[in-house]
Amino acid sequence: MAKLEKKFVENLFTIEGKVAIVTGATGALGSTIATGYALAGAKVVLTGRNEGKLQALAADLKEAGCEAAVCVADPSNEESVKALVKFAVDTYGEINILTVAHGYNKAQNILDQSVADWQYVMDADCKSVYVVCKYVAEQMVAQGKGGKMIVVTSQRSRAGMAGYTAYCTSKGGADLMVQSMACDLTAKYGINVNSINPALFRSELTEWMFDETSDVYKNMLKRMPIGRLGEPHDFVGMSIFLASAASDFLTGGNYDATGGYWGC
Ligand code: NDP
Repeated sequence: MAKLEKKFVENLFTIEGKVAIVTGATGALGSTIATGYALAGAKVVLTGRNEGKLQALAADLKEAGCEAAVCVADPSNEESVKALVKFAVDTYGEINILTVAHGYNKAQNILDQSVADWQYVMDADCKSVYVVCKYVAEQMVAQGKGGKMIVVTSQRSRAGMAGYTAYCTSKGGADLMVQSMACDLTAKYGINVNSINPALFRSELTEWMFDETSDVYKNMLKRMPIGRLGEPHDFVGMSIFLASAASDFLTGGNYDATGGYWGC
């Protein structure tokens, strides 16, 4: 059995100097993950469709002494994603980490939903995961150094819900895609692929559920053994862990970030 060296343990969680792409970097979770990566010393390519928000985050990160660059891209558009990969390589030389944190939902009963509306959510939450992971994987394979891919899906990937025929389907598909990509990419190319499944985290869209006097809040808490709802900063440790050497033996995993909701 190989002896465990101090240096190995000391370096387990570092992502310093790594190049990371974060999608949905304009959103609550994506912007916080990107900030966490940048503060941990990674060079971060911030991507999303809203250039103003991306530039504002990049300016904040640069002011904090971090390395960050902006590339506007639509994750479900192949040409846009190819340009994103090229931008990352042109800017920082390679890609080591991909964190997919964009997403969209429009809850509608199937009887009221058009096929086009269903397809829009599927493209935003499922096809886009495939497109981004595919072109980043091709780049990582060409580099020959492995890599880490982390996809933010949802606790709704494992259970249906009224009005969620698109969202649950797309998130369930993304979780299975992660498992399948691990089969394609880990043993042969050293690319680990995992997903994180959040329950309820604070964002512009969910802010109203954080009213502690509301029934929605109280009912959520009944199923949250952690005793509170999620804050975006709760995501940083998990995202760094899955991007670092500390998670080298983890692949094809769909990891519970529900504060215990799944088990309760
Ligand atoms: P936000 O709404 O804060 O951010 C999501 C980002 O995704 C947006 O900033 C937007 O960026 C991008 N986006 C929106 N629509 C589309 C689209 N049609 N195509 C591509 N990109 C789009 O969400 P969160 O940060 O809260 O969520 C991040 C991920 O976590 C999502 O996948 C979400 O489903 C998932 N999740 C979040 C939970 C929560 O409680 N917050 C719970 C469970 C899952 P831009 O407009 O710049 O492209």
